[in-house]
Amino acid sequence: VGAVRDARRLHVVHMTAEMAPIAKVGGLGDVVTGLARACLLRGHTVEVMLPFYECLPKDQLEGLQHDCEFDCPKGRVTDGQMRTEGLRTLAFRAKIDGVPVVLLRPDWGAGNLFRGSRIYGGSYNELEAYLYFSRACLEYLSASGRKPDIIHVHEWQLSAVPMLYWDSFHAAGLSKARVMLTIHNMDNSGECRQEEFAHTGLPGELFASVDKALDERTVGHNPERLCLMKGGIVYSNAVTTVSPTYAREALDGGAAGWLRSTLARPEVRAKFQGVLNGIDTALWDPAVDHFLPAPYSAADPSGKALCKRYLQKGLGLEVDACKPVVACVTRLVPQKGIHLIRHAVYRTLELGGQFVLLGSGHADGDFRRMASEEFRGSPATALLVMYSEAAAHLIYAAADVVLVPSLFEPCGLTQLIALRYGALPVVRATGGLADTVHDVAKGGEDANGYTFTGVDEGSLNSALDRALTAFREQPQWWADLTQRNMLVDCSWERAAGAYVDIYNRLAAL
Ligand code: ADP
Repeated sequence: VGAVRDARRLHVVHMTAEMAPIAKVGGLGDVVTGLARACLLRGHTVEVMLPFYECLPKDQLEGLQHDCEFDCPKGRVTDGQMRTEGLRTLAFRAKIDGVPVVLLRPDWGAGNLFRGSRIYGGSYNELEAYLYFSRACLEYLSASGRKPDIIHVHEWQLSAVPMLYWDSFHAAGLSKARVMLTIHNMDNSGECRQEEFAHTGLPGELFASVDKALDERTVGHNPERLCLMKGGIVYSNAVTTVSPTYAREALDGGAAGWLRSTLARPEVRAKFQGVLNGIDTALWDPAVDHFLPAPYSAADPSGKALCKRYLQKGLGLEVDACKPVVACVTRLVPQKGIHLIRHAVYRTLELGGQFVLLGSGHADGDFRRMASEEFRGSPATALLVMYSEAAAHLIYAAADVVLVPSLFEPCGLTQLIALRYGALPVVRATGGLADTVHDVAKGGEDANGYTFTGVDEGSLNSALDRALTAFREQPQWWADLTQRNMLVDCSWERAAGAYVDIYNRLAAL
């Protein structure tokens, strides 16, 4: 790919709770790394600020070095009084996947924030940790004399940054920067009591009005509660979410919940838009994927049949090229349409196909039971209740169909990976799934898979049945379509352009 070089070189600083591959929980981590790398290639200066979680594998932090130490103001409210102290903070620099990162953490002699064996769910208070981290990022930028053009923050965890920036730091030396917030999922908007906001070193009262960050649900009975994402939306110069349809669903439907009224304000509408994610096409490339027994590409797709045989054999399924393999690679949480995934297992069997699930998450109980009882030793069903990068790669490569029946989906990456690996997606047309999968029944240049709209089993059948019929009856058409899909550009090189346009617009403000 010939890299695009942008005429104007910008300095962009991301602030985030996740970064792939070593600090990744979900799509957020992928987006930060993909976007940062693409912008570096386009000639911009990019840095990512990330908590120095204790669980990060240090051997994968390229060139890790101690940078500086400083005291980060952090408040606590007792008996109605806010007292502020400096929390000793350590800054390190390194590279992750070639991207320069700044890692911050408190001196663990003075507190346990970001300690433990996982990114989330440690024994410390997460809200406190990210409020402290938000402040620490700005303190670091300011103390190090950096003058970024763009501060790009992600999710509720960093939503206090735009508030702190426009309240204090803008006047205190970081005046050039404009701030942008990207919302990857509106499900968690960061509820915060006013007194908890003191962890940023600023009193929550500053933001406790309806036009700022007050949680409007609580007006009248609990005027105490703030919403960080609301504050982030109000105070940022631009707000994006990860697909145009999800942005629309937030404004016109229920995707944003009560935040809809904030997004609908004319001044917010004018700065809010959806920008579709890309995927890391270096990581997800069947031609060089070292997890696969046989590489393949659109030019020579023959290796895909070998991958399918390998998976069927490895999972104890009947080895038969004519049986369609329907796969689902997913977190098992309500958002992903658990009841539809469960139904699809049975429907696929009725239609003579094979079903392979790779999933983990707190709603996995049903599948564990099905795997150990009903489908134990089944020649047509493999339910793998776990997280495995290696298995995911092999499953995409072996699959004929990849199912994504989400109830809502801000963007979704699995359908994009499916297209690139020559599997046809069967998806519920919501959020980013609606933007990226276009039903073959509608025809047209961009037709690339199957969609359905309802949340009932009949709706899912209407798409899955058509897919499996076409697989059986029109093999040449199927081969041509999958081959064409594999060539479509869904890279971050393409997706980054829309972000750079926004950065340029903000830098000109
Ligand atoms: P979300 O961020 O909501 O989980 P996305 O579709 O945006 O959903 O991203 C999911 C990513 O996580 C994909 O790269 C997918 O392959 C991967 N993934 C999901 N579940 C598993 C699993 N059980 N094992 C391995 N990878 C998984």
